[in-house]
Amino acid sequence: MSSEEAPKVDVMLGLKSVLSKMEAAVARRSKDLPQITPKLIAVSKIRPPSMIVEAYQMGHRDFGENYVNELSQKANDPLILENCKDIRWHFIGHLQTNKINKLLSSPRLYMIQTVHSEKLANNLNKQWVKYRQEEAKLPVLVQVNTSGEEAKSGIEPANAYKLVEHVMKNCPNLEFKGVMTIGEYDYDMSRGPNPDFISLVKIRQEVCEKLNLDINNVELSMGMSTDYEHAIELGATCVRVGTTIFGPRPRKLQDIESD
Ligand SMILES: *Cc1c(COP(=O)(O)O)cnc(C)c1O
Repeated sequence: MSSEEAPKVDVMLGLKSVLSKMEAAVARRSKDLPQITPKLIAVSKIRPPSMIVEAYQMGHRDFGENYVNELSQKANDPLILENCKDIRWHFIGHLQTNKINKLLSSPRLYMIQTVHSEKLANNLNKQWVKYRQEEAKLPVLVQVNTSGEEAKSGIEPANAYKLVEHVMKNCPNLEFKGVMTIGEYDYDMSRGPNPDFISLVKIRQEVCEKLNLDINNVELSMGMSTDYEHAIELGATCVRVGTTIFGPRPRKLQDIESD
């Protein structure tokens, strides 16, 4: 084996272990939180289609990608089209206007987790008409920049409910499903509960109160490999995990371009 090759990773073991840790985290969750069973998004960025097929064949359906080109390439890959007919693709990256059509035309696109502005919502709402089937709405999450870092996209916490309201009132082709945050990397949990997660929980509360929504129907997408259990304890309904399932990321697949 050359040093360029990634070590063989046991996807089945990784997936099983994450799913069982998720269950244990749900059991530790405070009983006053909405008891929504969290969903696992297997983040497959920079992984070959063969690994996705492996996870799919174990019954996994939800996969996440953060570059449009990579999602589109994988969603159209013959191996995936043939073996993963019910796959659900979640887009979890920063979406630029000039990539919207490419993203929306990807087979089995299921959800966009990163709606961060009215302009993006309007564009998605307008373009989706060309790609939807049976007039189905496009499920979206509103991304909130809870950590206030400039490099991260997402709406400011104080304006989150206005963006949600805009999506609900002015974007009839989109279906508001919840809120999402990436949060600060490498947060040291010995400092107490992650403030980004606490902030997203509060934002959901506020959105539900102001817009009269049932909190049990509004998702909280937060938590990655290092902190998904913690996020679930605080109420996450959707966690996005890559490395813990698929092993350390290889540097790059040669035939996949980023955006
Ligand atoms: C890469 C990525 C993840 C998963 O990260 P891991 O540390 O590999 O689990 C989750 N969310 C987003 C938005 C990502 O880009």
